[in-house]
Amino acid sequence: MINGEFLMTFEYAPAPESRASVSIKSKYGHYIGGKFVAGEKHFRTINPATEEVLSSIALGGKKEVDAAVKAAKKALDMNWSKLSGRERGKYLFRIARILQERAREFAVLESLDNGKPIRESRDVDVPLAAAHFFYHAGWADKLEFAGVGTNAKAHGVVGQIIPWNFPLLMLAWKVAPALATGNTVVLKPAETTPLTALLFAEVCEQAGLPAGVVNILTGDGSTGALIVNHPGINKIAFTGSTEVGKIIAQSVAGTNKSVTLELGGKAANIVFEDAAIDESVEGIVNGIFFNQGHVCCAGSRLVIQESISDEFIKKLQKRMEKIRIGDPLDKNTDLGAINSRAQLEKIKDLSLAGDAEGAERWSPKCALPDKGFWFAPTIFTGVTQTHRIAREEIFGPVLSVLTFRTPQEGIDKANNTPFGLSAGIWSEKGSKVLWASQKLKAGVIWSNTFNRFDPTSPFGGYKESGWGREGGRHGLTAYLKGVAHE
Ligand code: NDP
Repeated sequence: MINGEFLMTFEYAPAPESRASVSIKSKYGHYIGGKFVAGEKHFRTINPATEEVLSSIALGGKKEVDAAVKAAKKALDMNWSKLSGRERGKYLFRIARILQERAREFAVLESLDNGKPIRESRDVDVPLAAAHFFYHAGWADKLEFAGVGTNAKAHGVVGQIIPWNFPLLMLAWKVAPALATGNTVVLKPAETTPLTALLFAEVCEQAGLPAGVVNILTGDGSTGALIVNHPGINKIAFTGSTEVGKIIAQSVAGTNKSVTLELGGKAANIVFEDAAIDESVEGIVNGIFFNQGHVCCAGSRLVIQESISDEFIKKLQKRMEKIRIGDPLDKNTDLGAINSRAQLEKIKDLSLAGDAEGAERWSPKCALPDKGFWFAPTIFTGVTQTHRIAREEIFGPVLSVLTFRTPQEGIDKANNTPFGLSAGIWSEKGSKVLWASQKLKAGVIWSNTFNRFDPTSPFGGYKESGWGREGGRHGLTAYLKGVAHE
């Protein structure tokens, strides 16, 4: 101990999770009508940490989208819509249990295809995915108690398009409520992370889910657009960028299709001068560096009271020096690989814009692997509200720091964004937390914590962050027709 500081540091030995639980085929087709159907064109999915090719993935075109929608409609008419809620619930319980049983396999596969640390895929993505199926299994036979009356009906065939940041978890957020409410599904995973959705197709088979209730079509944005515009689709559920969300909103305008959009964010984590500093530092780190910052609700703006700013930034930098970057399969890794070369370029471009506009960049000294896509944890201080890094979603491990003098100024800065997905408040004063939470324009607000998710809690935003809610009773009712949404 010197000056009250514990100076001993430990070298961590590598602790890689075994890949043995995972078997990846060299080529995959689409999962349509309960069978894998060979695709015509293919693209490659790679491990972003090493650039190793993992598999060849089918690119869905019009023929495959037609077949999947037809299979989903047939399953709806033949059996799924006739089953009681109790019977549907049994399938969901089975799926949830199988996800738990195969948790290690899913976690390793997710980390390989996505680049996220195994610590997160193992402890967050997979358990939460199972929890979503358990939660919605419980609702399946109780829909009349969801406050939607007794006449609410399923939409029918639902098209679901998901992003690459939480591939299995986003699938669970979409598929579980859709099946619980009696819909059938055509789901498209993101081009760069299709493998856990394809493994999920095996889970559906293992659970004995009737053929066609879940169809998984792989492909790129063109496949997504074909699903959105297909006349046989009754509802679209999308998670992804605001840009594509706007295209989807335009495409479905004037049709009978229902739509929910879960889009981008630029969340403010507001730290008041009476906050518990060390806890807040930990919360800020979790808010922006969890999942490499590839999180729609990431706390990508630190809005901090000027009186504590210098001390806080020093502590934050010290904490950032401890972030371990590297092999996503290593159990000690905190920050994994950026999901794709394209995303890495976007993060680099926006960071260069931060430099050019006069903000001050800082990253801890850290060695990044030679192969794969990597970006060091970064903070920008001296950021003003007009800077691109304060306004645009970077979707990477980059934090923009803005300061305020009065609480009202903090709120004004936090709300000065076209987005409105989430926000965090750090203060030891309950009255201040309540005051701030009422003033913040965000769909989800955390107090003295961040990035907490629970299937029972509705999640979603307003302004350019989307339409509708996912999770909880609100998310459930979005899959029913004839429900007026709050
Ligand atoms: P996209 O919005 O393009 O992708 C989300 C999903 O939509 C993917 O499955 C994608 O297919 C599909 N898609 C793309 N174009 C269309 C279309 N015209 N019609 C229907 N579906 C479509 O996000 P990106 O992956 O390109 O990421 C770009 C930026 O979006 C990121 O940098 C980040 O800022 C933001 N983003 C936000 C997310 C969030 O959760 N809010 C999630 C992901 C990204 P495919 O990718 O296979 O081509």
